[in-house]
Amino acid sequence: MNRIYLDHAATTPLDPRVLEVMLPYLRDHYGNASSVHALGRKARYAVEECRERISAHLEVAPGDIIFTSGGTEANNLAIKGVLGDNGGGLLTSSAEHEAVLTQAKSRMTSGESVCLLTPESNGGISLSQLEAALTQDVHLVSLMHANNEVGTLNPVAEIAKMCNARGILYHCDAVQTSGQGDVWPAKLGVDMMSASSHKFYGPKGVGWLYVRPGIALTGVIEGGSQERRRRGGTENVPAIVGMAKAFDLAIEEQEIRRAHLLMLRRRLIEGLEAIMDDCFYVLNTPERAEICAPHIVNIAFPPVNGETIDGEMLILNMDMQGICVASGSACTSGAIEPSHVLLAMGLDQATASAAVRFSLGKDNTPEEVDRAVDSLHTIIKRMRKSSVA
Ligand code: PLP
Repeated sequence: MNRIYLDHAATTPLDPRVLEVMLPYLRDHYGNASSVHALGRKARYAVEECRERISAHLEVAPGDIIFTSGGTEANNLAIKGVLGDNGGGLLTSSAEHEAVLTQAKSRMTSGESVCLLTPESNGGISLSQLEAALTQDVHLVSLMHANNEVGTLNPVAEIAKMCNARGILYHCDAVQTSGQGDVWPAKLGVDMMSASSHKFYGPKGVGWLYVRPGIALTGVIEGGSQERRRRGGTENVPAIVGMAKAFDLAIEEQEIRRAHLLMLRRRLIEGLEAIMDDCFYVLNTPERAEICAPHIVNIAFPPVNGETIDGEMLILNMDMQGICVASGSACTSGAIEPSHVLLAMGLDQATASAAVRFSLGKDNTPEEVDRAVDSLHTIIKRMRKSSVA
């Protein structure tokens, strides 16, 4: 059975062109970038050359990029690095990724000032709500670009403008959209921005945090002078080399990829609408393509005559058909809980528990999308029938 992978928001496959450039650094050029001998210098050269290429694409200076182990670490570095243990108020939203939300919650628990915005029903934040919440207590705003569960894009440039006007720092988690379009931090006026390589066909376990020059940021991983003392630890040279290549390709192929994703996205939504009458919510619609990341479509099944759909069972059934998609639920303390994002958007527990996230990739085909729609249709019909029986 040919597997159909529609879970690119979770991770993307490694592009073979990326693997190709990584192999020599895994096999032959294994020096530590801090060593002074020839192998070390080779590794150092590679790291700095990658930093230059990435920063040139982002239109920032190489020294503004701190390599990290990925998006989670970049988000931790941005918030902890600026606010420390008691460094002022944080404003974020309850639709953020756990890598931001968990920090917000622990800061709240330890009595620090945290403002948690409730997202609108589409998962994005409201600018008027944000404006009202930007009080003197707020030192740092952390609001993502694309939501990883529903794909809604926050208006980053407008958020940055509001923050800049008040002298408040703005961190943006752009993990889902790095490499996808005009997400250039300096141009947008963003002070810090997180990215992660495995979301754009690079290796896992590597990413970066952009930090605008002049921001006082304290490293959170101590024990080495790497990354200008802002992130200790031996650099993962093969991963950095792979990430830079993946980013080059993402920028080069950006328009083709976007057009392809939008075509697939439209086909997916229209396919679902054609066969599934009125029994699903599309949490983002093609008419609002400009406020959606092109790769994410999240749909949910509300109860019909009181009968609910078990989202986990749905995902397992799709998997048995060879289709990899994600549910909105997460396993928290041993229990399956509906997504915090869907609940924050106002969905009821039963509907939020019956959500499926399709996330498309550059190599998916229209036929794969059609097969996924057919399978979902068959499975939902079977599940509805057996819950009635
Ligand atoms: N932020 C967002 C929006 C994400 O989607 C993810 C991963 O899914 C992360 C942060 C974490 O990134 P990483 O997997 O590189 O730690």
